[in-house]
Amino acid sequence: MQVRYDVLMDNDLIKDLVDVAKDSALLNGVLMRTKETPNSSEVVTYAPFTLFPSPVPEATFHQALAVQTHYNRLVDKISQDSSFLEEALASTIKVDDFTGRLFNIYRHVLQEGKTQSIVLGLNRSDYMLDQNEDGSASLKQIEINTIAASFGGLASHTPNVHRHILKVAGRLEDSKRILDNNPSAGLAKGLSKAWDLYGSERAVVLYLVEELQRNIFDHRYVENELWKRNIPVIRRQFEDVAKTGFLDQDKRLFVDGREVAIVYFRNGYMPQNYTEQNWEARLMMERSMAVKCPDISTHLAGTKKVQQELARPGVLERFFPGEPDVVDKIRATFAGLYTLDMGPEGDKTVAMALAKPDKFVLKPQREGGGNNLYGAEICQVLEGVKQSTERMAYILMDKVQPRPVHNYLLRLGTPLKLSTCLSELGVFGAYVRHGQDMVLNECAGHLLRTKSDEHSDGGVAAGVAVLDNPLLV
Ligand code: ADP
Ligand code: MG
Repeated sequence: MQVRYDVLMDNDLIKDLVDVAKDSALLNGVLMRTKETPNSSEVVTYAPFTLFPSPVPEATFHQALAVQTHYNRLVDKISQDSSFLEEALASTIKVDDFTGRLFNIYRHVLQEGKTQSIVLGLNRSDYMLDQNEDGSASLKQIEINTIAASFGGLASHTPNVHRHILKVAGRLEDSKRILDNNPSAGLAKGLSKAWDLYGSERAVVLYLVEELQRNIFDHRYVENELWKRNIPVIRRQFEDVAKTGFLDQDKRLFVDGREVAIVYFRNGYMPQNYTEQNWEARLMMERSMAVKCPDISTHLAGTKKVQQELARPGVLERFFPGEPDVVDKIRATFAGLYTLDMGPEGDKTVAMALAKPDKFVLKPQREGGGNNLYGAEICQVLEGVKQSTERMAYILMDKVQPRPVHNYLLRLGTPLKLSTCLSELGVFGAYVRHGQDMVLNECAGHLLRTKSDEHSDGGVAAGVAVLDNPLLV
């Protein structure tokens, strides 16, 4: 059953509703800074969002939430398995400099010996719903973000916006079905648990942020949850850490004279985030006693190459011996993933992709949106690299084909039009391990993002997707 709000309303009604919607977003704090003034809050706008919530099958939604604590454990287990990480990333680091440099830091820390036994993971596992021939949908993971997973803050405030819009649109019953969502609290719970364990009242949570801070309000929601608990937060850039940071003799990290309990990376996942100085700063933070969210091994556990290796037969079993039900639940969310390493298996992947490029997505080892290749581009790129080790910088993945729905995407400066849209469901996870003990392992809420089907790639920050809410059907 799909509600077609757009056909229930004429254009004038939609226009009125759009005005109501934008005001509601502002009143509810669904905010973003503008492109023109990304580092000032003097003039701000609404964060892009859909006029209407999008349908998501109830069973699939609950499946995604239920598997999250298993994914948390999986990421954590991978991060502790150095031989797995070595093997899984061996080919990638030969040809991908960025992953190679991250891996060098990992090796350095491993050799030096771990200093901090508190591990904090805040991640977001993203899914699309693959449409089956019988009309049902299967939950398929797109990727898991183990660093800088965003929009938990804003997603805590979008439900009230859609509730209000639906009421004004005369859809009171649907309005009541918009789910509560509070990833801000869930993420803050993880941060606060790790801060408690660190055990110093004066020590701060350091948000490691980008130079351009358009999405600051998303951060602030989680930040403010921490301040409510009297946990001090500072926001700094790599450059600040490089200039003022040092480790004392016990390897405690100090930045701007403040002891740092937790480094929360909201930056540092793209090559362009790093100068030589920033690489030095990253290494210093990784070597320190501060809790890193994520630490370098957890960062690497979230790479697309690791995702592909996990899909090999027997690999999940290695991480969950004696827990076949957990293995089944995780594996049920995997789309087809294929290696492009040199050898017969990789050759087969190349042939398969070239034969039916529209069935696949070619992914380089990158994060942040806009890097993947589709259709004819797959052929172009693969024809160029198929004979060389360069191809090992990519993985191939089945293209997930969700059922399109109609909606209006509201974004500053974009004319109003009805779009054919695809949605991506994200689920936030938070966990804290102290030594061998998982002391917190939770699903921390959800995020629905929706984009026009004209775009095959790109998230909210990339200006493609917008914030949404699931309406369970
Ligand atoms: P990034 O790290 O850049 O966010 P993703 O793997 O999340 O990389 O891919 C970016 C976007 O590309 C996703 O948000 C989704 O819209 C699209 N995408 C990625 N993988 C697939 C896939 N297997 N099938 C369909 N679309 C995909
Ligand atoms: Mg993504």
